[in-house]
Amino acid sequence: MKTYRDIAAALALPRGALIDGDWLEPGADTFASLDPFTGAEIARLPACGLPEVDRAVAAARRSFEAGVWSGLHPAERKGILCRLADLILHHAEELAVLEALDAGKPVADCLGIDVPETAKAIRWHAEAQDKLYDQIAPSAPNAVGLIVREPVGVVAAVLPWNFPLMMLAWKLGPALATGNSLVVKPAENTSLSTLRVAELALEAGVPPGVFSVVTGLGGVTGEALARHMDVDAITFTGSTAVGRRILEAAAQTNLKEVCLEMGGKSAAVVLSDADQIERIAAIQANAIFWNMGENCTANSRIIVHKDRHDDLVAALAAQTADWALGDQLDEGTRLGPLVSDTHFKKVTGLVDRGKAQGARVVTGGQGAGGLLFQPTIFADVSAEMDIFQQEIFGPVVSVTKADSDEEAVALANQSDYGLAATLYTRDIGKAHRYARKLRAGTVGVNAYSEGEISTPFGGFKASGFGGRDNGIHAHDQYTELKTIWIDLDG
Ligand code: NAP
Ligand code: MG
Repeated sequence: MKTYRDIAAALALPRGALIDGDWLEPGADTFASLDPFTGAEIARLPACGLPEVDRAVAAARRSFEAGVWSGLHPAERKGILCRLADLILHHAEELAVLEALDAGKPVADCLGIDVPETAKAIRWHAEAQDKLYDQIAPSAPNAVGLIVREPVGVVAAVLPWNFPLMMLAWKLGPALATGNSLVVKPAENTSLSTLRVAELALEAGVPPGVFSVVTGLGGVTGEALARHMDVDAITFTGSTAVGRRILEAAAQTNLKEVCLEMGGKSAAVVLSDADQIERIAAIQANAIFWNMGENCTANSRIIVHKDRHDDLVAALAAQTADWALGDQLDEGTRLGPLVSDTHFKKVTGLVDRGKAQGARVVTGGQGAGGLLFQPTIFADVSAEMDIFQQEIFGPVVSVTKADSDEEAVALANQSDYGLAATLYTRDIGKAHRYARKLRAGTVGVNAYSEGEISTPFGGFKASGFGGRDNGIHAHDQYTELKTIWIDLDG
């Protein structure tokens, strides 16, 4: 029987950047894509500079103005994007293996979650598009005030490496469904699945120039998009530091629209009346160890009432036995390697800092060979410690004891971030009251949740800026509102 490693070895890998419907093969400036488990180079891609970015943006502008996509009936765009979703599912195994190979994500997750969710997100936005109506304002009988939504024009998307396919879909779905042309810069660690989807988009019937992919380095290719005078909107998922730079770049250039989905330090709050501690432990293990903790909504802090603390720490520690470490292309692996050597060093550094600052290691606490990192639980963590405040983006959770429910919620809010939170209680009054008090874009009650494709996703405070992904609310990022006032006496 073929293993996923065999399938990976036989994959036809993307050949370069994909600009205006043509492959741009690697020239003088290139960079490597690595398999984080073996360290092997799997592809060499063009490091696009200003000329390539200009070409992709010009193709986007040309196609937008020509109306080859923006001018279609919404039902036609729906048909093509649904075909793209079908093609993604048709190539599910190939895409899942490619994603696992490039990003270090467990192949079982890629097959079971990332690929189907990618198709679902694209289809959801596509199917919504021909069912949306514009508005007419109340007015005197001698006037008609139309409020219409128009595509913003040329959209740039700068993507992270932790969910390459899904983050692409979260941007591409609403951006293309609403009629824009799109230029995507994937993360340099994980360009391959984006390139393959762009190829499938051409096959589905998205016209050349409407969706280009410029591969390259953040400080060059990403920066060029952020500073480009002919990009109308930029949508970004990544770190808060880079998000800030993009906002500055937009302010210094053409004031393009900016939407930023950034880091998090999400807390799970376990109140005094919470029961089913085993269930909570299983959910919270998933909330921090899934995707190696390389997840913006990872619940990297657990704040637990003192009456539930010891039971929860013990139950959580028992969970780690279920999280098998290993080759991301083994079907049984639940924790693959961290994405890169640089990232591994960042995680290790923060874990060492936690130890030095007096947090207690309950389990884990170090690497496990190569870029594998043990699932790690810290207890006795106080709000002043770096591991309580800084995003680790690894399989590392800190547990903090609270003396009261009020204190637990206050501790959860003691963060610069505000992406997501989880709340456990059996009291419906507390559930509503504290869900409102938690300063986060998504609050899961009695479950770790990011909502679904139908619900808006984004952060408060330093976690988000300028809009939301997902739901119909995502369309705000990609459309301009226009008022057309018609004087009927004129
Ligand atoms: P990152 O370093 O901010 O990179 C994100 C993207 O920005 C990459 O494509 C990167 O390119 C590019 N970039 C880097 N410098 C740039 C610049 N000066 N101008 C324009 N683009 C630039 O983040 P990451 O390490 O890939 O991802 C981890 C972070 O993303 C975490 O903080 C996590 O919380 C956040 N995240 C947030 C969400 C959310 O929805 N809120 C979801 C997933 C991840 P290179 O790859 O070439 O550096
Ligand atoms: Mg890679």
